[in-house]
Formats: sequence, structure tokens, C-alpha cells
Amino acid sequence: MEQFQLSGTLTGLHHSLEKAYQPEEFRRVGHQLIDLISDQLSQASRKEIPVIPYRSPEDELNFWKDDFEKNQGGEPIELFQKILDHSSKVHHPHIMGHQIATPALLSSFGGLISDILANGTGVYEMGMASNGLEKLVTDFLAQAIGYGLDGGGFLTSGGTLANLTAMLAARKAKAKGNVWTEGHSQRLAIMVSEEAHYCIDRAARIMGMGSQGIIKVPVDDKYKIRIDLLEEYYQRAKAEGLQVIALIGCASSTATGSYDDLDALGDFSHKHDLWYHIDGAHGGGVILSEKYKYLAKGIEKADSVVIDFHKMLMTPALNTALIFRRGEDAYKTFQQRAQYLWDQQQTEEWYNSGKRTFECTKLMMSIRVYTILRTYGPQIFGENIEKLHGMAENFAQILKARKDFELAHEPESNIINYRYILAEENKLDALNTKIRERLIHEGDYYIVSTSLQGKKYLRSAIMNPLTTEEDFTALLDKIAFLARNI
Ligand SMILES: *Cc1c(COP(=O)(O)O)cnc(C)c1O
Repeated sequence: MEQFQLSGTLTGLHHSLEKAYQPEEFRRVGHQLIDLISDQLSQASRKEIPVIPYRSPEDELNFWKDDFEKNQGGEPIELFQKILDHSSKVHHPHIMGHQIATPALLSSFGGLISDILANGTGVYEMGMASNGLEKLVTDFLAQAIGYGLDGGGFLTSGGTLANLTAMLAARKAKAKGNVWTEGHSQRLAIMVSEEAHYCIDRAARIMGMGSQGIIKVPVDDKYKIRIDLLEEYYQRAKAEGLQVIALIGCASSTATGSYDDLDALGDFSHKHDLWYHIDGAHGGGVILSEKYKYLAKGIEKADSVVIDFHKMLMTPALNTALIFRRGEDAYKTFQQRAQYLWDQQQTEEWYNSGKRTFECTKLMMSIRVYTILRTYGPQIFGENIEKLHGMAENFAQILKARKDFELAHEPESNIINYRYILAEENKLDALNTKIRERLIHEGDYYIVSTSLQGKKYLRSAIMNPLTTEEDFTALLDKIAFLARNI
């Protein structure tokens, strides 16, 4: 591909460096920006603007090349307007696609403050508030999981990284010898459901376990890991010379939002001395809802749990908690020395979060979560989960009552899979694919798609608590209309 050259009028600008640091300029643009964003949020909530202003990747790139050619030195507010106009709107009620939170608005100011303060958080002095709040927020989750007083953890940049970090802790704890100093000579493996998020597979491969080291256990007709097959898969791996170090439970799985039997997985892990990890990136937050915490029954048996605040817990991305049953396990994963960062190399200080995280410099993530906790109280998370789950049940009922749609499975969480079915079976995959494409290009609704048992389905994660029953019906009517006109 042709490379884009930075050229043109850049050299013609004569701004002094001081200009980039003027508080009054920040104030001026900041006021404009808050007005601009607030207006757009209102428009999005009233559905007056598209949820996705779709353009092809080439058109989008050309738009920005053109912007750079013509507008260097221009008013920043015009740039911000363009970025807003060219992005998907997660506060729009028609956002029914990926599992990204519709953030509580005040929480986003936490992001702004993190950017302005730019405290790296990895060491205490560069993140006094954020380290203090991080302990508070992660202790809150540890308690909700049901861990004892020695449970605890940290925040990190996304579920993918958190799952990898947990697998490293598992290896440190369960592989023979001292992996940190000597590496490992045995062939290691982990066991997980075939419906797990791809990042688990990726973590195993990053750690050098290869294809054989990721043992994918089949699921039942509800997309939950088959407990009855665990022993057989485990024994087979052992017979092949693998040392299984960890078993991972999905809470919930990505495609269908199904919860594994966490209790039974815990018992199996205990029996074979495996590290028990739960990928609750999407659905682990149900522990904060009285009504839905039964879905995660047994979660307290896990050695480690990942929960994304930026999925079901109203926080802007990225914002992930990795919590350990024995908080001290978190300190064992990385045993590195960094004389310039920490005076004490081997001690466990909760306030130097970089001793436990992949990141050295890290965003001040805890501020965003704590803003929600402090402003609205901890019960808001449960309210959100109950709202989103309830709406998904509502959507499922609407789908079941219609003859032109098929619901793939009863939803266990806020993820719904469905397809339009008024055509011959062998045409349905192509038809549903085309429907989604048309829908996205028109921009009024945002949904995604997936394959289940070899068939193409439309997929919606209900993430915005302000989406309504009318929005579901309007979406389905629109899909039916498109289907008849393709
Ligand atoms: C989203 C998700 C992940 C990945 O988390 P990121 O924060 O996107 O990196 C992992 N597992 C599950 C179950 C998820 O839903």
C-alpha cells in the first residue's frame, strides 16, 4: 500500500512549544468540547443521528488525509467535531452489537483526569490517588466474589491482558521448578471450553504451549462446558505427557453469553490440583446483582477471576480487574527487579501496582470506577445488570412471538442470537449476512453476527440500559423490510 507522507504546511506553522501548555487555551476549547459532546449525546439518545455513520475504510482514510492536508493549525474543536461525527455512538439506544459498556457519563471525566494528571500508577508516588482507589475498587470486587480478607488484585488494560497475566500466575504456581528463573521443560497445557474467548487460546500460545497445550472441551446444547467429559480429556492429556496446569471457566462465554457450571469446575480443579481461573470478563459482574448472582455460583472457588468493568459495569474501556483468592499470588507472577522504580525489590506493597501488572506505565483506571461507586453507590452495578438481562429476556420474547425470526437459544445473559428465516434454508446464511451489511451501511442500527453450529446468526449484546422494547421491534421490522428488498 502507498505510504502516507507527512508533508505540506506542517513546516509553515510557527507555534511555540509554550502554546501547547496554555491552561487558558485548554479552558476555552474544553468549554466548547463539553457543549459539543453534550449536544451530541442528546441527539444520540433521541435517535436523531445515526448510531454508526458508516464509511468504507478507504473513504475514511482519505477523509483524514484530506483533513491533514488542509487543516493543520486549524481550530481543535473542528477536529473533535469530525472525530465525533465519524465514530459509532455507544450512547445511542440502537447500539446492539458488541459487548462494550455504554459508560456512565460522569465516569468519562475520570478518563479526562487520568489523561491530564498522567500519573503512571506503576509506582506509588506517580499515582497516589489512583493506587489508593485501585485497592479500594479491587477489594470491593474481591469481597463481592466471596473471597476472604486475603483476596485482592489489581486493574489492568483489558480482559485479554488480564487472562494472560492469570495464566502466568497459574504457571508460576503449578509448573514444576522455578519457571521465572529456569523456564520450563515439561509440556504444559490448560483446559477450557471450546466456546471460550479467543484470548485464552492466544495466551496459551504466547506462553509457548502450542496447539497441543490448549485443550478445548466440547460444550452441551446450552453452550456450557461438558463436565462429564473433563476427566476423560484430562486423563488423555496426561497420557500424552502433558502437565495440565489450569482449568478455565467461562462466565460467560463470548458468542452466546452462557455460564459454565463454575461450582463443578471448581471441584474438578481441586481434585487434580489445577489452578482454577474464571474468565468473567463479560459476565463476572453478575456477582453484584442479587437476582443474577446465582449464574456465577461457585466463583469463590477460583484462584483467579477476571472481570471487565468496561463490559457490564458501566465504565469506559479499558478497565479490567484481575482478582486473586490469595492476593499474595499476584506478587509471585513477576519477580523482577527494577532498582530505579522500587526501593524494596521483593516486598509486597499494594501501593506499587507495577510489581504485579504487565504494564509499567498504566492509565489511572480506578478513578473511573470509583467515580461511579461514589456518586451512585455500589448497587448501581447490579441495577444495570438486572436491566440489561431483563431487556434481553424481553427481546427474546419478542423474537419468539414472531414467525419471521428464529431465536438461536434462550439467553442466559444479555447476549441474543437470532436470524431472519423467511427464505429457503440454504439461502439463510447469505441473506442474514447481507442484512447485517445493509443495516450497518444505512447506519440506523448496530448489530453484529456470529456462527453457531455452522449457521449464520445475527447477534446483539444489549449494553445500553436506555434501549427499549420499541427499539427491538423497530430493529426487527427494519430487518424484515431489508430481507424482503434484497
Ligand atoms: C471481552 C472479553 C474478553 C477480552 O477482553 P478485552 O477487555 O476485550 O481484552 C475475554 N473474555 C471474554 C469472555 C470477553 O467477553
